[in-house]
Amino acid sequence: MSNVIRREFIKQSLGVAVGVCTGFGGLHALAAAVEKDKKPGRKFRYLGWMVGLSYQTPRPEGKHPEEMRRLVREMRDNGMNLLSLMLISYSHYDNHDGFCWPTRRKSLRCYRDEHSLNANEKTEFLGEIIEEAKQAGMHVQLMTNWGLWNPRRIVKGYPKAAVQQRADGRRTGWLHCPDNPDVYRCGQDVMLDALEQYAERGVDSYAIEFPGYGECFCSFTREAFARETGETLTPQWTQANPAAFERWKQKHIGGILKRLVDEVHAEFPSVEIWLHTACAPGRGHSPEFIQKAGIPTVIPYMMHTAGDFSDIPRNLRAVDPLPAVGHVCVRSKPFKNYAIPPKNPEMIRKFFDAIEQTTADNLAGLMFFNESCVSKENRKAVYEGIQRLL
Ligand SMILES: [Zn+2]
Repeated sequence: MSNVIRREFIKQSLGVAVGVCTGFGGLHALAAAVEKDKKPGRKFRYLGWMVGLSYQTPRPEGKHPEEMRRLVREMRDNGMNLLSLMLISYSHYDNHDGFCWPTRRKSLRCYRDEHSLNANEKTEFLGEIIEEAKQAGMHVQLMTNWGLWNPRRIVKGYPKAAVQQRADGRRTGWLHCPDNPDVYRCGQDVMLDALEQYAERGVDSYAIEFPGYGECFCSFTREAFARETGETLTPQWTQANPAAFERWKQKHIGGILKRLVDEVHAEFPSVEIWLHTACAPGRGHSPEFIQKAGIPTVIPYMMHTAGDFSDIPRNLRAVDPLPAVGHVCVRSKPFKNYAIPPKNPEMIRKFFDAIEQTTADNLAGLMFFNESCVSKENRKAVYEGIQRLL
C-alpha cells in the first residue's frame, strides 16, 4: 500500500469509526491502525524462500515431496508469499551436480543429476508442489544459473560450449559468455525445458543469474565487438578505454538478454523473467538495458558478507529504478570453494533492523537463501523478522 493510498484508507477508516464505532474495541482498533500507519515500514510485495531442490541439501537425492509440502504450509503460516525453486546444483560448490528435473531435451540429458529424486520421471514431484503453492496464494518462480555448469559434463550435449577466455589466452572459470552459440543454446534450452514441464502447473516467473562477463576474449566475443564497434578487442583496448568497454558490455549483454526474453515469451508470454544481479561491474548489467530487455524485477545480493549491511543501500541504488527483491543469504553452514561466512540469528536480526531503516523505494521484497541449508535457529529468526514487516 503506498503512503497516499494508506493515508486515504486511514481517513476513510476515521470517518467510518466516528460514525459507527462507539465501543472501546472499535476505538482501540482505530488507534492501532493509526499507530501502524506511523511506522516507517513498507508493504513488501514479495517475501519468501529460495530453495535449492538439490543444492546444499543433506542427501544425494535432494528434497523429498513431503518436505516440500511441509515447507509450503510453513511458509503460508509465517506470512510468506514467494517460493523460488532453484533447479540446478554445481559440484564445484556442493556434492550435487546437475539439473534436478526430468529434462526432456536430448542435449540436456548429459547434465541431469541422476541422484535427484525430482530428476527421475518416476519420482518427479515438483509439479504437484507448484500447484499446492499456487493454491496457497504464492508467487511461484523457477531459478537456474546461466553457465555455472560442470564444463566436463555439459560439452557432451553442447560440444562447442567453453569457459571464458582471459586476455592471456587461458580459459578459466565458468560458461557465462553468451556469445558462444552453444552456451547460448544451452542457457535457452534450460529455461524452455523447465518451463515446458512446469509453466502450466502455476509458474509466475523464471529467474536467471548471468549471462555476462567482466571480460572475455573468445573468438565469438571478439567478433561481436568488432561488428558492433568497428574496433579490435584487445587487452590494451579495454585497459585504455574502461568506461567505453563497460558501456559496450552493458548494451551488448542487454541485447542478448532482450533476445532471450523475447524467445522465452514467444512460448510463455505470461511468465516474467527476473535477473539475479546487483548491476555490479563485471557482469555487463545495467538497469537501462535490463529494463529494455523486458525484465521487470531484479534480485540483488543482500547480507552477502556477514555483519556489513552496506550492500543494501548500495545495491538498491545500483539497480534503481528497477524493483528489487533482495537475495538474502541466511545459510548456516560453510560450503566448499565459496568464501562467504555462515550466518547466525543475531546477524539476521540486525539485517531486519537495517531493512526497517532502509528508505529506498525500489525495495519490493526479500527472498531468503537457501532454505535447504539453514539451522532451526536461523529459520526462526527469518520468520520472526518477517513478522516485523507484515
Ligand atoms: Zn566470449
